[in-house]
Amino acid sequence: MDKFQQSQKDKLFKSSTHDPYKLPRVEGSAICPQCSAVYQAGNWTWKHPESTVIHDAHTVTCPACRRIEDQMPAATVTLSGNFLLKHRNEIIHLIENTEKKENAEHALERIIHLGDSAADLIVTTTGIHLANRLGHALEAAFKGKADYQYGDDTYGLSVNWTRDE
Ligand SMILES: [Zn+2]
Repeated sequence: MDKFQQSQKDKLFKSSTHDPYKLPRVEGSAICPQCSAVYQAGNWTWKHPESTVIHDAHTVTCPACRRIEDQMPAATVTLSGNFLLKHRNEIIHLIENTEKKENAEHALERIIHLGDSAADLIVTTTGIHLANRLGHALEAAFKGKADYQYGDDTYGLSVNWTRDE
């Protein structure tokens, strides 16, 4: 890992401490009534624990469901350029696949909305890790150029990916 990658990684780590949607630590376990994600030992996962544990669980709406409800994305990925117009379906397929993989491991990383804005494609997400991963997946699969702008004081990330030809 070079210095630039290290500083990006530090930012990714640091930003997670300022997330206004991050819940205070809950004692014991909790379950989200909307998506059924389970909170245990400080993490939200899809792994359902022993039924005796879940019996005592609190009911807490998870940060991802709250962001979706409030329409408050943590991150936005903006795709642009001529390449997008010609390869839209493949690109959307990659985005959806990347979400599936990330979400399987990290329950709070989800796409909120995927849609067009003029010639651009805009993807909003509940977590910055998914947006970061989408930028890297796009570069790995289709080349082009992605840049990453983290919020200074607020938790957030803007990724711009573009390829012209
Ligand atoms: Zn939820």
